[in-house]
Amino acid sequence: MDLQEILDRIAADMAATQDRGRVAGYIPELACVDPTQFAIAVATADGQLLSAGDADVPFSIQSISKAFTLALALGRLGDQLWHRVGREPSGNAFNSITQLEREAGIPRNPFINAGALVVTDSLLEARVRSEVLAELLRFLRHAADDDDIHINKRVAASEEATGHRNRALAEFMAAHGNIHNDPAQTCWTYFHQCAVEMSCRQMALAGRFLMGGASGPTMLAPARMQRILALMLTCGHYDASGDFAFHVGLPGKSGVGGGILVIAPGRASIAVWSPGLNANGNSQLGTRAMMQLAAKTGWSVFQ
Ligand code: GLU
Repeated sequence: MDLQEILDRIAADMAATQDRGRVAGYIPELACVDPTQFAIAVATADGQLLSAGDADVPFSIQSISKAFTLALALGRLGDQLWHRVGREPSGNAFNSITQLEREAGIPRNPFINAGALVVTDSLLEARVRSEVLAELLRFLRHAADDDDIHINKRVAASEEATGHRNRALAEFMAAHGNIHNDPAQTCWTYFHQCAVEMSCRQMALAGRFLMGGASGPTMLAPARMQRILALMLTCGHYDASGDFAFHVGLPGKSGVGGGILVIAPGRASIAVWSPGLNANGNSQLGTRAMMQLAAKTGWSVFQ
């Protein structure tokens, strides 16, 4: 199997695809992104980094940041975190308020917005927001072995200006005692973590900490890595997580910027990006490219 050839074929197939989905419109800065872009990058366990398409173009990582903040929060709080957030797929939209009301302010999992707000809130305990963002950037830069990873302030401001629903989630959880800091500070930090930009090559490298094997940086105990991967498989694609597991068979975390980080345990860390989203809010071409990659490599965890 020639992996570079597989990636080139996938990129060519995606370039020829007309239906690219729709870019996220609810965050004004993201609505301006050129939908014709596509990139894929693979960091393998034997230390190679292969890519095709616009793999050096930075994109807004959005909800992919939730996998990294979860790793940081588990490092700080350990299993205590699970008193505040569950581990079940939500079966509802990623920003659902009704489910939170029925379940007394305890979000279903760390990857829906409410759960991610709790995770970020836990990182803020006894620290100011800039320290949390600095820790996140340190983690990402170390994981990717690249200091050129930054927050796009315009995207953060755009989300701050329109993030009424996230603020509602945070205030609601504060009423239940599950947000411990000023909800406005928690939201500000969350908007900024979502506004980190990375290219596919940087993201594939950063994801190596979840891959296991010898080539990636060891930043997490193996047991913790397994738990994050289990959550990515069951909850990483909003309300289409089952479908992604069904078709691709690999843990992944997607974001409304059109990026997806996918891990083939022990084999590879994969980043794919195309800004147009499908009806479930996942990258339309990214999902399709991952289906092709999994089929051609046989990397499904169920293979
Ligand atoms: N910042 C986005 C929001 O909270 C993240 C959504 C996502 O990527 O799923 O709406």
